[in-house]
Parts: sequence; C-alpha cells; structure tokens
Amino acid sequence: MMNCLEFRRRVGAEPAISGDEIDAHRGDCPACARHQDELRAMDAMIGRAFVVDTTRIRKPRAVVAPATGRRWLAMAASIVIGVSVGIALWVSSPRASLAREVIGHVASETHAMISTTPIAPEELAGVLDPEGTKLRPGIGDVSFAARCVFAGNVVPHLVVRMPRGPVTVLLLRHRNVDGPVRLEEQGYVGVVLPAPRGSIAIVGRDQKDLDGIAQQVFEAVDWGG
Ligand SMILES: [Zn+2]
Ligand SMILES: [Zn+2]
Repeated sequence: MMNCLEFRRRVGAEPAISGDEIDAHRGDCPACARHQDELRAMDAMIGRAFVVDTTRIRKPRAVVAPATGRRWLAMAASIVIGVSVGIALWVSSPRASLAREVIGHVASETHAMISTTPIAPEELAGVLDPEGTKLRPGIGDVSFAARCVFAGNVVPHLVVRMPRGPVTVLLLRHRNVDGPVRLEEQGYVGVVLPAPRGSIAIVGRDQKDLDGIAQQVFEAVDWGG
C-alpha cells in the first residue's frame, strides 16, 4: 500500500489527484486525507483569487461627486490606513509565533525525515518551479519535497540530507522577517533568515553548526530573477 510519504509527495505535486491508491490511503489515514483537503481548498482559493482580479480590472471605476466625494475619500483613506496597520501588525506577529509555526509544522510531519533515498530531479522541480526557484547542485541529497499548507499558504517543504542528519527547509515567500529568527523547541534547532523573497526556515536536530548549515542551504537556493 502507498505510504504517507509517497501520498504526500504525489498530492503535493498535484492536489486534485485521485485514483484507487490515493483513495485507499485517504480511507486509512485521516491525517493525510486532511492534508490533501487543505491543499485542494488552497488551490481552489488561489483559483478564485485570480478570477476576482480579472473581473475587477474590467469593471469601470465608480464616479464620485467632487464635494461630498472628497470628505468620503478622506474618511475611506483613514479606514484603509487603519486596516493596513491592523494587517501589518497581524502579519508581523511576534517572532515566537513564527517559531511555533515552523517547529509545529516540522514536528507534525516527522514522516518527511524518514526516507534517505534522493528524490528525482523532476519531482523537486515540480515543487520549486511554481515559486520560480531552483536548488543549485552540491547541497546534498534532497530526500523529501512537497508543497505544504503552512499558516494558510502553500509553501515548498524540503528535507536535505546533511552529514549530521536531515535538515528541513521551508521557503516562506509570504513571510518577511527583518533579521534572523532563532528557533529552539522540542529538541529542534533552527533559524528563519530573510530571503530575496520572504524568508527561509532551516531546521534540524543535533546540528552543532546550525549557522554554517543555514548559510550553506541559503546559498544553494537560486531565487530566480
Ligand atoms: Zn498517511
Ligand atoms: Zn510540510
């Protein structure tokens, strides 16, 4: 029967995938079924966002009468500023919550660490291509790659084999940090670094030289143009 690792690889590459093997695993494994449902929902949401954008472009702008319009605009502007400040505060939530989210994700997917077999280059490309990123050769074997739901976004989740054990890499394009965020929880050590697009989380266990490894991983990512 298909195992969790294989299921999540397949579903990560193609959330809408179905078939006997997929359905059988879904029936036996509620965690994986939920994982696929989340990815499907995310896919549908992204699809809808694009539809909304195109209709908005075509719609003619509303005409506002000048006298009452200006006051209304000023009021609307202050509301918009208020809302953006609120969103900004919410997005740049404390470093502690980022640490918790990253470690929480890694800890909930320990199955990703088990395999030691390098995955095929085209499988890795399937996970990284949508981000416009690539991995330069020489970083080590990538033994797991999937597109995962992380805090409401789809993010690439990789596991790279390093001499002292597997290292998890999450590309968090949606999440900006102003400096390195250190993570140390539940026996994991890691760091989230600012990246050309968003940030990158690098997490391991018993990694003595985490900074060296983080730098190695960071430099191995080709962030695209
Ligand atoms: Zn499973
Ligand atoms: Zn994941």
